[in-house]
Amino acid sequence: EPGLHLVATPIGAARDITLHALDVLNSAELLAAEDTRVMRHLMDIHGVPLRGRRIIAYHDHNAERQRPAILAALRDDRSVAYASDAGTPLVADPGYRLARDAAAQGSRVHVVPGPSAALAALSLSGLPSDRFLFAGFPPSTKAARASWLRQWAMIDATVILFESPRRVNQTVQELFEIEANRVIVMARELTKKFEEVIRGTAAELAADPRMKNLKGEVVLILDRPTPVVAGEDQVRAALQERLKNMTV
Ligand code: SAM
Repeated sequence: EPGLHLVATPIGAARDITLHALDVLNSAELLAAEDTRVMRHLMDIHGVPLRGRRIIAYHDHNAERQRPAILAALRDDRSVAYASDAGTPLVADPGYRLARDAAAQGSRVHVVPGPSAALAALSLSGLPSDRFLFAGFPPSTKAARASWLRQWAMIDATVILFESPRRVNQTVQELFEIEANRVIVMARELTKKFEEVIRGTAAELAADPRMKNLKGEVVLILDRPTPVVAGEDQVRAALQERLKNMTV
């Protein structure tokens, strides 16, 4: 079918590819990928032939240059499949401007839904999932990260963030300073051999030896702030304080 097909691919286990994704990779006239070798490998594993089709590289460093050719193919009513390295394109991955410009020029934009580390981690976290926010990667400098974390930690929603394994421990220490009792879930290497999930308060995770020297790909999920519920005693004390300060 003509149009841009945004294809989700596995985040670890190759068998998490969907039949729809294989159909689209098989039939698209033009293939575009964040990393052409990754797409070739994926097609090889699942026996999808290239049949002389070229795979165009489309990533953060060449997107401006490559986008016009892809948009032109779409205007010619061709079918284009785009996949990022893993998971769902556009989720902390390239593809946003491509989808935006394709839609703006009136081309069809299709989605091939599938894995995303953000939702995979949320599902197994055990944290409330009725309202959540995906915050992406924290800034890498210490000062910027501290205020960034503070900002999202205030949100009344479960917060999902991606983090480099080298910085997870640091980030957890910073969350501990923000609120020691906040429940955090660390989900690592999902769907892969060394999948690991650690749940606990910021204080517990900050002290957990398993959190040191983590390897692989990591998602952190924060519970929403605990609502401050005043008990009867606190209400009475606050009231008395107010009355004491009142001038008659
Ligand atoms: N678009 C991808 C998606 O939808 O899952 C995310 C791409 S982002 C550049 C890569 C980050 O996703 C990693 O640094 C890690 O935080 C997270 N991630 C990807 N695969 C993962 C996995 N198998 N387990 C845990 N986190 C993963």
